[in-house]
Amino acid sequence: MKRAYVKCPYCGAQAMLRPAHVVHGDQAKQGQYLYVCNRYPKCDAYVGVHAKSLLPLGTLANGDLRYKRILAHRAFEQLQRTCKMEKWQAYQWLQAKFSLRRDQAHIAKFSVYMCDQLIAACEEVEANHRRAA
Ligand SMILES: [Zn+2]
Repeated sequence: MKRAYVKCPYCGAQAMLRPAHVVHGDQAKQGQYLYVCNRYPKCDAYVGVHAKSLLPLGTLANGDLRYKRILAHRAFEQLQRTCKMEKWQAYQWLQAKFSLRRDQAHIAKFSVYMCDQLIAACEEVEANHRRAA
């Protein structure tokens, strides 16, 4: 299995692939994994992994960033519904909007700042859409 060398952006420690129950306890799904900071739980930073490759989906996130990414995902999904976009169209919009390469256009890679930018951009499109309707 390919293992990624992942460093925690908060404390600099290495992050390791660990079963999700380390973090989520009984709520973890069977066979689910996370990249977790080696200083967890003192350092509350982790990120989900791709189901097949088990490589990290993005950068490790603490509680605040995890929450922001959830809000950003929610806004992005709402945008897709409002504008009746396919997923790939929404990601093309995301890339163009923020001049991102395809591999950068993932909310799991976003900082708090980028999440805020995305949420604001989605709200702007929604507002325009409502005016046009
Ligand atoms: Zn850490």
